[in-house]
Amino acid sequence: MMHLNKKLRLEKKNQNNFFDDLHDDLIISILRKLSSSASSPSDFLTVLLTCKRLNRLGLHPLVLSKAGTHTLAVTLEKWSDSSHKFLKLCVNAGNINACYALGMIRFYCLQNQVSGASLMAKAAIKSHAPALYALSVIQFNGSGGSKSDRNLRAGVALCARSAYLGYVDALRELGHCLQDGYGVPRDVSEGRRLLIQANARELASSLRSYLSLKAGNEILTDLSVPVQEIHPVNRFLKDWFGSGRVELAEGLRMCSHDGCGRPETRPHEFRRCSVCGKVNYCSRGCQALDWRAKHKVECTPLDLWVAVVEEIGDGEAVEIDDNHGER
Ligand SMILES: [Zn+2]
Ligand SMILES: [Zn+2]
Repeated sequence: MMHLNKKLRLEKKNQNNFFDDLHDDLIISILRKLSSSASSPSDFLTVLLTCKRLNRLGLHPLVLSKAGTHTLAVTLEKWSDSSHKFLKLCVNAGNINACYALGMIRFYCLQNQVSGASLMAKAAIKSHAPALYALSVIQFNGSGGSKSDRNLRAGVALCARSAYLGYVDALRELGHCLQDGYGVPRDVSEGRRLLIQANARELASSLRSYLSLKAGNEILTDLSVPVQEIHPVNRFLKDWFGSGRVELAEGLRMCSHDGCGRPETRPHEFRRCSVCGKVNYCSRGCQALDWRAKHKVECTPLDLWVAVVEEIGDGEAVEIDDNHGER
């Protein structure tokens, strides 16, 4: 009996050694792959809970620097001091996705605009396209400052850099700026060209996600092209202000585009729909997207009803310009 126990203990010891014998470098390189490709934070974090060694190596800067957008996709329900600390660890490891996500959260949710903007700048310097675009929206609106802090030329420059890297939101914004001559000399045909390019890229990524859904054998009840995926940090912002957890200060409104989530940082910061005056947008891009997605059918000029009643009296038809919501 004693002998058997000893043998079992030895076998167990050998099994342990199998993992213990693996070199740190190898485990780190496997964890790097995992952190960059995990589809949710829990996919990565559960591995860290397995044992002390995996925990230690999983928090190694080489691993955290590689954490991808989905690994860092903290949701509102999971937001805590620990998740904030985890993002900070990733920032310190030089992770630009974490710089962008924490920058947005600090800038808009935690009202720490200086720290938020400097985190986004850290990512932007390393050519992180969403961070460049986010900074351009801040420049266009003078967010965190007053109306006189708006810097249209800086906004266009940041937006152009992001568009050059292929970021669709920036391509669309720049297209509208060129069409309107906003912060840049007007060039209608170049603006149109960029808008077509943005739509083509959007369609391509929608088709890709449609095909991958099909490949995954998911049941598709709706055969229309799926809507573009919302970045986790935009969803976080939307939940933060939409859940009632935080009340926006008196007079401040959120961007009406569903995929955005940005709030105003001072009253009347965002542009309003000039026709109905009921919706507000942080950018021309958000306005164009929302017009296409839903506002086109909701937008009714305030004085239209009055006009209709008056016209009925005269027995004449009312002319409605179809396109006036899109500017
Ligand atoms: Zn917006
Ligand atoms: Zn409207």
